[in-house]
Amino acid sequence: MSPESNIERVVPVMVPMPAERPYSYGVPVGMHIEPGSIVRVPLGPREVAGVVWDGEGELVPASKLRRISHVFDCPPLPAEMRKFIDWVANYTVSPPGMVARMALRAPAAFDPEPPVEGIRLTGLQPDRLTPARRRVLELAENGQAWTRSGLAHAAGVSSSVIDGLIEQGVFEHIDLPAQPVVAQPDPGFGRAQLTPEQEAVAARLREKVGQGGYSATLLDGVTGSGKTEVYFEAVAAALEQGRQVLILLPEIALTQAFLDRFHDRFGARPAEWHSDLAPRKREKVWRQVAEGQVRVVAGARSALFLPFSELGLIVVDEEHDPAYKQEDRVFYNARDMSVVRARIGNFPVILASATPSLESRVNAEQGRYERLVLPVRFAQVAMPDIRAIDMRRSPPQPGGFISPALLEAISQTLARKEQTLLFLNRRGYAPLTLCRVCGHRFQCENCSSWLVEHRFRKQLVCHHCGHHEPRPEACPECGTLDHLVPCGPGVERIAEEIDHHFPDARTIILSSDLIGGVKRLRLELEAIANGEADIVVGTQLVAKGHNFPGMTLVGIIDADLGLSNGDPRAAERTFQLLHQVTGRAGRTGLKSTGLIQTYQPEHPVMKALVSGDAEAFYAREVEERRRAGLPPFGRLASIIVSAGTKPEAEGYARELRRAAAHAPEIDVLGPAEAPMAMVAGRHRFRLLLHASRRADIQSYIRAWTARAPKPRGSVRVQIDIDPQSF
Ligand code: ADP
Ligand code: ZN
Repeated sequence: MSPESNIERVVPVMVPMPAERPYSYGVPVGMHIEPGSIVRVPLGPREVAGVVWDGEGELVPASKLRRISHVFDCPPLPAEMRKFIDWVANYTVSPPGMVARMALRAPAAFDPEPPVEGIRLTGLQPDRLTPARRRVLELAENGQAWTRSGLAHAAGVSSSVIDGLIEQGVFEHIDLPAQPVVAQPDPGFGRAQLTPEQEAVAARLREKVGQGGYSATLLDGVTGSGKTEVYFEAVAAALEQGRQVLILLPEIALTQAFLDRFHDRFGARPAEWHSDLAPRKREKVWRQVAEGQVRVVAGARSALFLPFSELGLIVVDEEHDPAYKQEDRVFYNARDMSVVRARIGNFPVILASATPSLESRVNAEQGRYERLVLPVRFAQVAMPDIRAIDMRRSPPQPGGFISPALLEAISQTLARKEQTLLFLNRRGYAPLTLCRVCGHRFQCENCSSWLVEHRFRKQLVCHHCGHHEPRPEACPECGTLDHLVPCGPGVERIAEEIDHHFPDARTIILSSDLIGGVKRLRLELEAIANGEADIVVGTQLVAKGHNFPGMTLVGIIDADLGLSNGDPRAAERTFQLLHQVTGRAGRTGLKSTGLIQTYQPEHPVMKALVSGDAEAFYAREVEERRRAGLPPFGRLASIIVSAGTKPEAEGYARELRRAAAHAPEIDVLGPAEAPMAMVAGRHRFRLLLHASRRADIQSYIRAWTARAPKPRGSVRVQIDIDPQSF
């Protein structure tokens, strides 16, 4: 039999590989295939799961044509998702196969789970009634179906007792669905009484959802103004229309309180989606989203690639958050791609933040987004009183990092039995260790970065590649004992200083390297919210969305930290982060204070934080970007060339540069060493593209890289459209 004789037609199949286009496969006669079908196909020596794509398969010589080996019993990937995948691939200059891969992240979910065998009473009586049998019958009396083992366990009998009853016909077998039915959120469940200002905004959002069609809204409201309460109304409206909803959150694994809050409002929890989820759980959610059983997902950025078939609203909470940017394989910003997804699906998207990104503000100013504002906190709760502490005038004690003014405020807060948050965006004890005798500095052998001392772990750790080594007693360079000194503070060192000043206070350190991982962090966050700590010393983890009712003082240890890296986005980012951190204070109406330690109190960021007036700050930032033609007024892309050796990386970066074509609205800058010149043993060079808004930067890059010599050896090229730092 010739191989083509039993093939009906040829279809394109997108495989989860760095493939630039779908591959052609034959459809065996009788196999039912449609665009979106999830199939298994042979690829090289293996088999992989792929998606039947749109259009015709490319012609392949019959002798080379391989066929689809299996169609999964699973809803096809919707047309909107296929279009979205193509769009993201095109925009990010990534192989579409690698984008499709993100939508196929739950392989075990492609086949339905087999039904579970259950048992149910028939009404027949057993021949003899033993005490064990009586317990079983009493439990099963209400007619409910049980699994064999579940009933045995509940009745405290061995399963042979159940088997005996089945044999006598007292129980019969039935099939139970493998998937428990998911509790459905009820739009009318716990509807809040909104304030008139909130209601006006909610009404507008409901109207937009009701009208249907694409729209983008920037929900701009101060911390505690009720943004969540208000966008829940849009969620309710979408649910009433029978649509699915996606809520994106930057740190969903740590904001479990959000799930409870959603439960209070809708009577059921949303499905959760993030990378810390157990594989079984992920597979369940993936399948239930595809089948439409799950109506609302609260997820991290990757939730954007779930196979929703009836998606009708996306909310991006904390839309300014850098965590929305993925910088691995496919470089994308989930905030921006949410807007694209909404446009493709023809439904509304809501971007919420107390400190919107400059891009979103400009989009609103230029009429692309509608801006809805909630200017005051709910229930007349006052914003914290923010003051700058000029560290030149109020210096800390020698060896310390906390100024007398901040220490005094902490002491008063303790006396009132309220909580203090001290914020420093630096893990560990000290960012640099040096030898006082010879000046030796401990540096990572794989990265261009210092090793950070972690005193609890008694290690020097690289925060870029994870390399760690024990902290020695003697200098490895000059051999002198006991003259290694820590330079600068990390959260551990601040906690030590606090212990010294307030030995009786209960102090908690909160940072992502806490032993015990996400679980432990969740417990600590809960403990803080319950008032089980007096002072919290934390990194940016504490900034995101938590509600600590007793927190009335926030101290920023080093407000200048993020400003010095030469990145044009540094001021915006610092403002957003510090505003969000100080916004943790006074959420429940107690008088609250934010104290900002800075050496440059006259800096526009500090002035904006202190005055609470962000408008002037944003206007100035926007103007600077406009003048420099930087995003969103111009376009940027960065191309990182990395390799195992510096000459390889630099050599290829130069070859690539030489292959660049001249284009009127695109400048190619570099190559230069990347801001992190070495990471995890790879040397990095960067080419930066700066273009006008009109320029088709993607087509330019595609043509360029196609023309350039292929990377050889260990050389790797990463393309980052709209890079975070520039
Ligand atoms: P944001 O998302 O803007 O920070 P939230 O929606 O979290 O604000 O609201 C802040 C606090 O005020 C929350 O505890 C919330 O439950 C409460 N709140 C806001 N609006 C209302 C309302 N209309 N009725 C009752 N509580 C509200
Ligand atoms: Zn390293």
